[in-house]
Amino acid sequence: MLYFLDSMSLCDDTLLCNYPKCRSKLCGFAWVTACSHAFCDQHGSGEFSRSPAICPACSSALSGKMDIVRTELSPSEEYKAMVLAGLRPETVLDISARALAFWTYQVHQERMFQEYSLSRAESQVKQMEKVLTQQNQNRELELNAMRGEVASLKKVMDEYKRKYSEVSERLMERNRQYQKLQGLYDSLRLRNMVVGDREAPRQAAPPEFTTGVIRQPSPRGSPSFLATGPDGDSRLFSSLEPDTGGKTFFQFSSPARDKGRTLFKKY
Ligand SMILES: [Zn+2]
Ligand SMILES: [Zn+2]
Repeated sequence: MLYFLDSMSLCDDTLLCNYPKCRSKLCGFAWVTACSHAFCDQHGSGEFSRSPAICPACSSALSGKMDIVRTELSPSEEYKAMVLAGLRPETVLDISARALAFWTYQVHQERMFQEYSLSRAESQVKQMEKVLTQQNQNRELELNAMRGEVASLKKVMDEYKRKYSEVSERLMERNRQYQKLQGLYDSLRLRNMVVGDREAPRQAAPPEFTTGVIRQPSPRGSPSFLATGPDGDSRLFSSLEPDTGGKTFFQFSSPARDKGRTLFKKY
């Protein structure tokens, strides 16, 4: 649409300077060449002042007398009245046809340029879309991976939470047991103190009573043993096991060590 409007405006309006990357609208005076190129006054006067003149658009050598013409784009009425006057109709038509061919060529070139620009822009857009799609896919993959990671971490956290609640419950249970035993121990000690106080005045106590007094620390020791509960038993047994294991280890290792010694002796 834009291109269409542009070419329309070209037909209606003016040509553009053919100097690379200039593309300014031609007005006032223009430099036209035999190779059908047109330049603004600035580029024409700059390029064609040196000899030999070379077309900046197509690199044609322009050595002929009429190869480069500086032409007025809006000629006066007087000029238009006289320039073709006296010429034969076919000559007038020939000149007009050549001038129109020049114009058509310029419009065509401009159209080609616009189409080329458009296709290049389209391919760039396609390329960018492809890159964008790729990036989006990558982001999506990353996001999914992160989601998976978050889910697995959540699972781990839930597991930890569960373990924590289990452990805290066990701790509370142990505390309860400890409190119970502490209470039991305190009451026993209190009773023993009461018993001891009663016995204190009687210094010469019979041996049966002294054994009873000696037995006093035993409840003090028992809470720590009982506090461990059923686990305490297993710990008791497990503590025994390394000893037997150690024995078997030394039993097995000592002959090997002897062998080693005999081997070393041989050398
Ligand atoms: Zn120019
Ligand atoms: Zn040229």
